[in-house]
Amino acid sequence: MASLDEACASVKAWQQYFYEFNHEMSASGRRGTQYRGSDWITNRRVVVYPTAGTLEHVGPVMHGMADLVDSLGLDFSIVSCESDSIDNMVHLSSKRTKLRFNRLAEFLVSWRFDRDDPSPHGVVVIVPHYLRGKCNSDNTGPKLASDSTCGVGSFGAGYVVMSVPPGKTYDVAQIAKHEAGHLLGLNPHHDRYRVNGYADSNCVMHASSSGSAMCGKCRDALWHFWKGIEYRTGKKYFK
Ligand SMILES: [Zn+2]
Ligand SMILES: [Zn+2]
Repeated sequence: MASLDEACASVKAWQQYFYEFNHEMSASGRRGTQYRGSDWITNRRVVVYPTAGTLEHVGPVMHGMADLVDSLGLDFSIVSCESDSIDNMVHLSSKRTKLRFNRLAEFLVSWRFDRDDPSPHGVVVIVPHYLRGKCNSDNTGPKLASDSTCGVGSFGAGYVVMSVPPGKTYDVAQIAKHEAGHLLGLNPHHDRYRVNGYADSNCVMHASSSGSAMCGKCRDALWHFWKGIEYRTGKKYFK
């Protein structure tokens, strides 16, 4: 397979790269157990879980996620649900105002796949904490987190953590759309690669996203990624 840098040579190379990108990824659960994390897509369902003090953000988060799903024409339902299990996992991953998102991710992965009745689905957790965590060295995980980071998202582990500490104002829907881009398979940020043939424009997938529109380059990446999944699995993911 070509590298992402080679994929920047032309529009066609870019589309081909994402079409052929192997979507089957493993994810770490508790105690280092490995799971086929990317299996979260099988039920075509994303569940938004608010935790204490974040209820007001559920609507904008769902709206931002649905905006991307709909614009791509993907057949994913987005619902919301409150869960004591999620509250508990957030509690076990946090200390006062800080939350270790990698730790939460391990809980989430095990929780979905490691039970008698596994329930693979995309998980979006809204927390009032600041996110803390190490950069992943591979291409599958969340990139980084600091006090200024408002969210992390990973396709390979099927989760998003939205950070909405009280007293700060964010465009929550826009951040949710950005994280939905990561959740749905677009790992690199818009500004990381310049591809011959695409005009540079504002894009929600910019590292510090400006505007809520997604550019043609990022949209093409996601669209071809999911077309490739359909081709390889024989399953339908577009409406
Ligand atoms: Zn990002
Ligand atoms: Zn873009």
